[in-house]
Amino acid sequence: MKYLSAKSKLNIDAQDGGFTTTLLSYCLENGILDAVVVVGDKNWKPVAYLATTPTELLKSTKSKYSISPNNKLLEYATENYDKVGLVGLPCHILGGLQFDLTLKVGLFCTKNFYYDTIKNIIKEKFGVNIDEVVKMNITKGKFVVETLKKKGFAGTEKVVYEIPIKEIEKLCNLGCRVCTDFSAKYADVSVGSVGSEDGWNTVIVRSKMVEDIINEMVEKGLIEVKDAVDIKAVEKLENIKKKNEEINKCSAYFAVCPALF
Ligand SMILES: Cc1cc2nc3c(=O)[nH]c(=O)nc-3n(C[C@H](O)[C@H](O)[C@H](O)COP(=O)(O)OP(=O)(O)OC[C@H]3O[C@@H](n4cnc5c(N)ncnc54)[C@H](O)[C@@H]3O)c2cc1C
Ligand code: SF4
Repeated sequence: MKYLSAKSKLNIDAQDGGFTTTLLSYCLENGILDAVVVVGDKNWKPVAYLATTPTELLKSTKSKYSISPNNKLLEYATENYDKVGLVGLPCHILGGLQFDLTLKVGLFCTKNFYYDTIKNIIKEKFGVNIDEVVKMNITKGKFVVETLKKKGFAGTEKVVYEIPIKEIEKLCNLGCRVCTDFSAKYADVSVGSVGSEDGWNTVIVRSKMVEDIINEMVEKGLIEVKDAVDIKAVEKLENIKKKNEEINKCSAYFAVCPALF
C-alpha cells in the first residue's frame, strides 16, 4: 500500500485534484477498461451511468452528496463488456466485490445524505435552491456550498456558504451511522482530499496494476504526483469509523438476545 498526493494536468472542472476522472479517462482511452460506472446528476440528484469514452466521463466530475444506485448497473455492465470499472464510495466497492471487475476506484467517505435531506439543508441553512449550486464539499469539519453571483456586466463571482458539519451530521443516512470503512479498503485505488493540500487528491495505491498505470500517467505528463500525504489525518478518520465496529457488535447482541435486556 502506497500513499501519494496527485493532481491532474488536464483542464478538468473536478472536485479536488481531478485524479479520478483522469485515471478513468486514461483507462478508457488505452483499452484498460471498456466501460466504467460513474455518477452524473440532475440538479445534484445522482444519476449512475456507464461511460465508455473520456468525453462521456466529463458529466461525472464533482461529488454529489446523496446516495447513487451505481451497483444496479454492474450486472448489465459485466454481461455486456469485458473490462468493467466501478467508481464509488466504500459501500459501493464492498457490494462490487460480487462482480468480476477490472478496476475498483473507491472514494473516501465519512457520510452521505438522502437527496431531499441535502436539498432541504441547503435551502434552510443558506437560503439557496439546489439548482443554483455549482459545488458542494465536506471538508475540514465543514459542509461547504458554492454558487455563482452575477457581477455587473463583467461576469460572475463565487459565493461560498459554510456550516460546521456537526450541525447536520445527525441528518445523514441511517446506514452511514454504522458504516466502518472510510478509505474504501477493498478498492484497487482509493481517492480523497483529506491529507493533501487544497486542489490535490490523496491517493492510496492498493495494487501493482494501479501503481503501473500511475507511473505511465506521470511519464505521459497527465498527472503530477508527490510524496506529501499527511497519513495521520487519513488514519484519524479511518479510526473514527472503525469505532462503529464496536457499536455494531453491541447492536447485534441486542438484536439477537432481546430477552436478556
Ligand atoms: C458522498 C461523498 C462523501 C465524501 N467524503 C469525503 C471525505 O469525508 N473526505 C475526503 O477526503 N473525501 C471525501 N469524498 C471524496 C471527494 O469528495 C472526491 O470525490 C475525491 O477527492 C476525488 O476527487 P477528484 O477531483 O479526483 O474527483 P473528480 O475527478 O471530480 O471525479 C468525481 C468522481 O466521483 C464520483 N461520484 C460523485 N458523486 C458520487 C456519489 N454520490 N457516489 C459515488 N460516486 C460519486 C463520480 O462518478 C466521479 O467519478 C467524498 C465523496 C462523496 C461522493
Ligand atoms: S458513510 Fe459508508 S454507508 Fe454511508 S455512503 Fe459513505 S461508505 Fe456508504
